[in-house]
Amino acid sequence: MVTILFHSTIFGPIHSRRLGSSLGVNLSPNDGKVCSFDCVYCEAGYNSQGAGTTGLPTREKVSQDLEEKLSAMKSLGEPLDVITFSGNGEPTIHPQFAEIIDDTIALRDKYFPQVKISVLSNSTRLGDESVVAALRKVDNNILKLDSAINETMRLIDQPASPTFTCEKVVEQIAQFGGQCVVQTMFLRGEHDGQRIDNTTAQEVEALIKAYKQINPRQVMIYSIDRKTPEQQLEKVSREELEVIASQLRAEGFDVMVS
Ligand code: SF4
Repeated sequence: MVTILFHSTIFGPIHSRRLGSSLGVNLSPNDGKVCSFDCVYCEAGYNSQGAGTTGLPTREKVSQDLEEKLSAMKSLGEPLDVITFSGNGEPTIHPQFAEIIDDTIALRDKYFPQVKISVLSNSTRLGDESVVAALRKVDNNILKLDSAINETMRLIDQPASPTFTCEKVVEQIAQFGGQCVVQTMFLRGEHDGQRIDNTTAQEVEALIKAYKQINPRQVMIYSIDRKTPEQQLEKVSREELEVIASQLRAEGFDVMVS
């Protein structure tokens, strides 16, 4: 069984395929997972493993741990490209997400002013104005859109909310006016006896339509890299991802394959 990935609030730095030398911030518990999706490919495992015992880290704890780490890295001359909010769940669920982003910007400016701040979000909290305002402040506002077809999205991402739809989330992502990166995980396989494949012509066509409505500054596409909670999933090859990327580039999008 896949279990949670990160046992601390600040982790790394780790080398990220997409982001470079990345210091992670985990706003979920250190011994459990809290997410509004339950993706079949989640590297942190399914939500059924529980939320753990430590609770969400307080704003003060995040700020204190981050300052300690940045200060130590600066003293040692360690390189850093980006501070990334990801971890064992969805960072924007934290009730003080907006304040934590403000603290992080202040600490970044103090210790590593050239470093970028990235947030990897599943896009489920874009109905909250404070979350949207905070995401507007970060350098890389990276938002998930795994399919633009509701049936497929529900199969892959398993959103907790029954009212979460592709139409609504595309509209919400579009409100950033291009000040965002959209991230799509391509995969094939089976879950609960149902076939999953978001690489078909129909899926890619629907995604292109959604990306056009969103007009992101970049589209990041990738496939499975680590163990997944659903065993019957298949990685989409780099070659296939490149074919999809070519289709997207032909439509005028800046595409990163990782
Ligand atoms: S949104 Fe991210 S953390 Fe949440 S279930 Fe999906 S992959 Fe895991």
